[in-house]
Amino acid sequence: MTPYPNLLSPLDLGFTTLRNRVLMGSMHTGLEDKAAHFPELAEYYAERARGGVGLIVTGGFAPNRTGWLLPLASKLTTSAEARRHRQLTAPVHDAGGKIALQVLHAGRYAYHPLSVSASSIKAPINPFRPRALTGYGVRQQINAFADCAALAREAGYDGVEIMGSEGYLINQFLAERTNKRTDAWGGTPEKRRRFAVEIVKRTREKVGADFIIIYRLSMLDLVPGGQRWDDVVALAKEVEAAGATIINTGIGWHEARVPTIVTSVPRAAFTWVTGKLKPHVGIPVVTSNRINMPQVAEEALRSGDADLVSMARPFLADPEWIRKAETGREDEINTCIACNQACLDHAFKRKLVSCMVNPRAGHETTLTLAPTRRSKHVAVVGAGPAGLAAATALAERGHDVELFEADDEIGGQFGIARKIPGKEEFAETIRYYQRRLEVTGVKVHLGTRVAAGELTGFDEVVLATGVAPRVPSLPGIEHPKVLSYVDVVKHGKPVGERVAVIGAGGIGVDVSEFLTHTDSPALDLDAWMAEWGVTDPEQAAGGLATPKPEPSPRQVYLLQRKKSGIGAGLGKTSGWVHRAALKAKRVEQLPGVTYERIDDDGLHITVDGTPRVLEVDTVVVCAGQEPVRDLADDLRAAGLPVHLIGGADVAAELDAKRAIDQGTRLAAAL
Ligand code: FAD
Ligand code: NAP
Ligand code: SF4
Repeated sequence: MTPYPNLLSPLDLGFTTLRNRVLMGSMHTGLEDKAAHFPELAEYYAERARGGVGLIVTGGFAPNRTGWLLPLASKLTTSAEARRHRQLTAPVHDAGGKIALQVLHAGRYAYHPLSVSASSIKAPINPFRPRALTGYGVRQQINAFADCAALAREAGYDGVEIMGSEGYLINQFLAERTNKRTDAWGGTPEKRRRFAVEIVKRTREKVGADFIIIYRLSMLDLVPGGQRWDDVVALAKEVEAAGATIINTGIGWHEARVPTIVTSVPRAAFTWVTGKLKPHVGIPVVTSNRINMPQVAEEALRSGDADLVSMARPFLADPEWIRKAETGREDEINTCIACNQACLDHAFKRKLVSCMVNPRAGHETTLTLAPTRRSKHVAVVGAGPAGLAAATALAERGHDVELFEADDEIGGQFGIARKIPGKEEFAETIRYYQRRLEVTGVKVHLGTRVAAGELTGFDEVVLATGVAPRVPSLPGIEHPKVLSYVDVVKHGKPVGERVAVIGAGGIGVDVSEFLTHTDSPALDLDAWMAEWGVTDPEQAAGGLATPKPEPSPRQVYLLQRKKSGIGAGLGKTSGWVHRAALKAKRVEQLPGVTYERIDDDGLHITVDGTPRVLEVDTVVVCAGQEPVRDLADDLRAAGLPVHLIGGADVAAELDAKRAIDQGTRLAAAL
């Protein structure tokens, strides 16, 4: 008996059957844009199909040049291109999977001068103003969608997903916010829906009855001027009547100021919206957003909110997710912790998409952990992300690995990160590595601070001893009111009601969140919705209400010496969420500060030449890190091969992404 009977049951669509209820949501990896990368993309999809995914949806392909996300980005407009796609579809079918091509027209989100939209209204997140389509132009776009779908069929795809959400072209026609037309394609909700419905109708005519058409429907626009709930329901019914096979859930436009997928969004935060729509249609509906573990997915299906679940990033983190759920090994799942650091943040920087907790993602053909031909006795010192990644990957390859950790538990600095409100997911990575150490047979020595002399019998030593907090040289730094972030977050030392945080990097921002929250927003959906102003779309168009954040229990000042904006170095897709959260908690953000001294009166600073005393009870130091690598010289002197990884190697700009990547790559090479 499986604990996931709903999740793992097949879905009969009449003309074809999906082997389970899991759709791998569309993600643009960057490998789609050049045909030369198709062999790598094929292996990336094939690995996920072998792992058991029911239906894979590709990254977005534009139906014409105006729909490109970026100049020369992925498109499918010719039979020659369709032939190349057979490289992608055939291996997925060989692995027993199914695959649909996402047809995506960027509309006004297109980052180039050819962009078009319903009306000529610039998006707040894009410098290019779109050209308003003429009536003839609208017809051409409808045909382009249908032609692209026909080419997808030619390429061997099992279906298409028509991208109608997230604020892309179709969504732009649907919302009053972006559609000011007065012709047959705007002016009333019915006319605004016509573009979407005609696309589905025309596509069905072109592809025939036995081809999956998924329509990704924006159920909650989360922008001012978004669709009313009546319009959403009417669209779903019309799309069904026009020939859609499945309706997928879209939440929030890219320009929305409400987070929808970052780690502080509660798990399955939007399944209730899919559940609200489901009774209005007869075709299967898919729910999505922040579903990352089998029990969460099973519950979304068991409760009747949806017929399928869509997960995208969880399959970057673990291509074997389904197989592990099927075989009772869910504790071995490498969970997506929704950090966005190696996936969406890479996509925005036009770097190849990968995954922080699985650096093999997107690199399946080049980063392999093949069995070693010569097993070595390897010591790994330090069980932070770098050491854990190295130890488990080395053992997976067949090396005899011993892991030494000074602390009583594994995790290193990541164990501190998981205590930040909204970062609870980080505990999943530690749980994953804990299990992985057992499965791969690493001998773990906790509470063991090793010295160089204890490592002489090993063939290789990997030093993953990480970082220690930097202590700035500042008069009064020894004052009892001064604490480090380790004292505060890890050891729970008491903090007063007025606090100054020195240093506004990732850790200073996280510590400010820690100090301004009593409960974690990620653990209480109602509280989170109130904090960000999300409501039932029947109450307000687009589901947008006035945010009502809980007041902070403390007055917090967040300081840095640089004049640049606070949190400017944070990730593109998560930094704005942190900045908005701190603003909502009235954290006073002070860049361009000179620290003078700390004494009984508080923290003395100078800003723009003006002295100021912050009368605080506590000063928390988050002033960066220094590497810990005191063992290296002694080990080298003893003639041992030493490899430095993670913070022990370079502390500047260290994050867990680099630590895990470096540990994995070293293990692949040793
Ligand atoms: P560490 O995590 O420092 O691990 C080193 C380990 O070595 C420690 O467990 C230590 O006890 C052990 N050790 C040291 N000396 C010895 C010895 N002689 N013998 C045995 N053991 C020894 N990163 C991100 O990417 N994203 C985030 O969102 C993020 N958030 C963070 C939030 C907070 C509050 C903090 C504190 C950190 C955060 N980080 C984040 C940073 C991330 O945790 C670190 O970059 C990462 O942990 C560094 O990994 P590491 O393995 O190199 O070192
Ligand atoms: P950091 O980002 O390097 O920030 C260090 C802060 O300390 C800066 O604000 C710096 O600003 C200040 N500082 C440096 N030297 C100082 C000194 N001598 N005196 C006073 N202030 C000083 O490092 P971090 O915040 O410790 O974070 C460590 C790593 O963890 C980062 O690289 C980050 O990527 C990662 N992390 C990531 C996230 C995330 O959400 N992605 C979250 C947490 C941590 P000034 O020099 O301008 O004063
Ligand atoms: Fe998930 Fe982070 Fe990996 Fe992206 S990088 S897939 S958000 S764990």
